[in-house]
Amino acid sequence: MIRTERGKKGPPVRDPIRMAVPKLVLAMAAIVATAPLAAAPAVTTVFTHVAVVTMQDATALNNRVVEVRGNTIAAIRPARGYRAPKGARVIDGRGMFLMPGLADMHTHVAEYQTQPDFLAHYLAYGVTTIRTLSGNPDLLRLRDVIAHRERLAPRLWVSGPIITGPQGAAGDGGPQKIVVRTAEEARAAVDRQIDAGYDLVKLYDGLSQEAFLAAAREAKSRGFYSIGHLPDQMPLDMALASGLDEIAHADELVSYHWIGYDPARQYSSDGIAPLGIDRGTIPATVALIRENRVAVVSNLITDQTVYEGIADTTALLSAPQYREVPRPLLDRWRTQGRFVKWRGQGPYRRDTIQPFLQQLVLQMQRAGIVLTVGSDLGVEGMVPGFHLVRDVQLLEEAGLTPFEALSAATRNAAAVAARMGKPANWGRVAIGYRADLVLLGGNPLSSTRNLWLVKGVMLAGEWIPPDRLAELKRAGVPRFGERQLSAKR
Ligand SMILES: [Zn+2]
Repeated sequence: MIRTERGKKGPPVRDPIRMAVPKLVLAMAAIVATAPLAAAPAVTTVFTHVAVVTMQDATALNNRVVEVRGNTIAAIRPARGYRAPKGARVIDGRGMFLMPGLADMHTHVAEYQTQPDFLAHYLAYGVTTIRTLSGNPDLLRLRDVIAHRERLAPRLWVSGPIITGPQGAAGDGGPQKIVVRTAEEARAAVDRQIDAGYDLVKLYDGLSQEAFLAAAREAKSRGFYSIGHLPDQMPLDMALASGLDEIAHADELVSYHWIGYDPARQYSSDGIAPLGIDRGTIPATVALIRENRVAVVSNLITDQTVYEGIADTTALLSAPQYREVPRPLLDRWRTQGRFVKWRGQGPYRRDTIQPFLQQLVLQMQRAGIVLTVGSDLGVEGMVPGFHLVRDVQLLEEAGLTPFEALSAATRNAAAVAARMGKPANWGRVAIGYRADLVLLGGNPLSSTRNLWLVKGVMLAGEWIPPDRLAELKRAGVPRFGERQLSAKR
């Protein structure tokens, strides 16, 4: 939500304002599209003596062998007495834990910076799938380039350009948006995006009730997946029963809990700060979401980072993760956007909104709602990969078990993908599943803190050891295959 930018509802943080057009995305996609098509690695890779976090349940299987052939997990068996096939690459997993790669289900890759070199950063933090929620034709091409293994980057899914109303498009300079006024225009916009080959549609604030309902129903009637913000002035039960499949951030739900909030009134940025929150109504909201089988991206980390950035921008941006961020981007975060415009709201967000959101996601988890995680990369302060791991950690801090928090980044994301009509055989370590894996130096089922101990990542069967992960972050623009990178040295 960026309603505050327009003087409407406030607190929710949401979607990137700003933005440079990703010209380089297009340029690079064009260049790599001409590169020879790389096949899945022919070599068999074997992890030996490793503890396997299958994500089937909350226990790890000790001392196992995991065999990967091509891009698929081919076998999982006890390590005792095992002999690796001839020619296999053997990775000694002693003392380490092998889990599925993570998924960032809410990102805006084109809004982060003007070129996609940073996609390698995702890999360095164990993120092997990303879903970007403000698409354009360049990103569709990038998606396909990655799918053809012409580029070493997380698997990418791309929503259509954001569909909004006249109000939602006003003046924030954000991602490319499609403005619709009537139900008819809304249906036509959804149809065009489906036909253009996008993976889902993204509905946004600013849509009239009529247009929102028409868009969500059109997607539903064509069997197409939709994710959305929840527009102002629309009753929650109506929005949730529209056919909408997923809510883009838990904080979309804040406004339904504000004491004294009047959706018809215009709120200034600071106008929301005095509003208290009624936590007593959380169960009713949760029941509605469950009843309509709507999934939710928790995305607690963006709200947290924003209030931290408001409180002390310099302190926040001095943290080590920001050494990876290009200087012009840091300068922009310092001088414009939420850290500046929402000054004064820091304590309110920290003390009122964030505890509410933690309680909300905990109750959603307890109710069996499908929760995923996302960084909302593109919002000030968000770093690719790093803040996805932080989002998982915040679920644990909200009271979820480590297994539940990890599920949001793995098996739940795969369940959402299945509903999007994508492959569902990922997000677990199981035979026949896609070999997107993270090798960790500690057990993530004991604490999600161990997600920081990345000892290597496997992307669709390609093994990326730690030194190469570090190099990818420095070099950018990686391709599949180790030879290209070595040649650059
Ligand atoms: Zn967003």
